[in-house]
Amino acid sequence: MPATLIAPRTTPDSPDAVSPVSVGELSIVERMVALYASDMPNRYRFGKGDDAQLGSWIVQGVARLGLEEVYRSAAYAQSYRLLSLANLTTADQTRAHSARFTNLRRLDRAESVAGISSIGPDSVPVSASAVARSRRPMVEGGCPCGGTGWMELQVLDGEALSRSCPAHNPTGNLVNRRVAVTG
Ligand SMILES: [Zn+2]
Repeated sequence: MPATLIAPRTTPDSPDAVSPVSVGELSIVERMVALYASDMPNRYRFGKGDDAQLGSWIVQGVARLGLEEVYRSAAYAQSYRLLSLANLTTADQTRAHSARFTNLRRLDRAESVAGISSIGPDSVPVSASAVARSRRPMVEGGCPCGGTGWMELQVLDGEALSRSCPAHNPTGNLVNRRVAVTG
């Protein structure tokens, strides 16, 4: 049986996607968002030699969402994850996260696949600027720290006990002005 030649579909889905994106210029979380928005099947499992396929899904997802939206969604997802790991998410934040990513199982899958894109022999490392960008704290749904970087736990003998906000102050290096005001 003769092979049928099918021209690969290389045009992006969105007509306004004009600038090509390089996978290396995207952080892992940004790649996750792009994969989430792509044609990647929900139950996709990475196989040897799939690197080019991963790359084209990532480019496709970026074309669909637009680069700015990929950046924004990734920053929200990253901050939500940090808050979630510390059990500090609010109902508002969880609502916003679930509205943004309606299929959380798909998001999990996209995250593990995005991680694969940065390891292994055919991996695409993340550029330093992408890492820096993905660490911007952006919380959707309001943050209990009010953007100060510090959450008040309780006040004992006039002294406020607070903890650093995992999203707005992940390193705990921000000056705690909240204590200065309360104490
Ligand atoms: Zn915060």
